[in-house]
Amino acid sequence: MHEIAHQWWYSLVGNDSALEPWLDEALATYSERIFYENNYPANISWWWQFRVNYFDPTGYVDTNIYNGGSFRLYTNAVYFQGALFLDELRERMGYGNFSKFLKEYATRYAYGYATAYDFFNLQREIVDVNISDLFNTYFLSEY
Ligand SMILES: [Zn+2]
Repeated sequence: MHEIAHQWWYSLVGNDSALEPWLDEALATYSERIFYENNYPANISWWWQFRVNYFDPTGYVDTNIYNGGSFRLYTNAVYFQGALFLDELRERMGYGNFSKFLKEYATRYAYGYATAYDFFNLQREIVDVNISDLFNTYFLSEY
């Protein structure tokens, strides 16, 4: 499901996969969760434990490919901390607003290129909730 999700996150909505890899990798990983929620809801706790929590992820979501360290440190930060961040963002925004946000993100940046600033500017446009604590927890930068 992760690789299928890249048809949207990276293929349809382009981004700098070296400097801002979380934009496609965290969204592709979190899209796995959304797939399970919609198709195998009984397995979602198992999947989240197996796929994300098992690795006890640490690190900053906005780590780039040059400062990520080992494969495990990099994927823990970008993919799994990224998925944990998106899960908290969805809770904070509300599920309906989060879905609206992802649809608008895909529509607005289709066949184009998005940055973290585009991502968060649109997120604030959809619903302007305070996520400064999430920036402090998950990101090196604040957008
Ligand atoms: Zn990926």
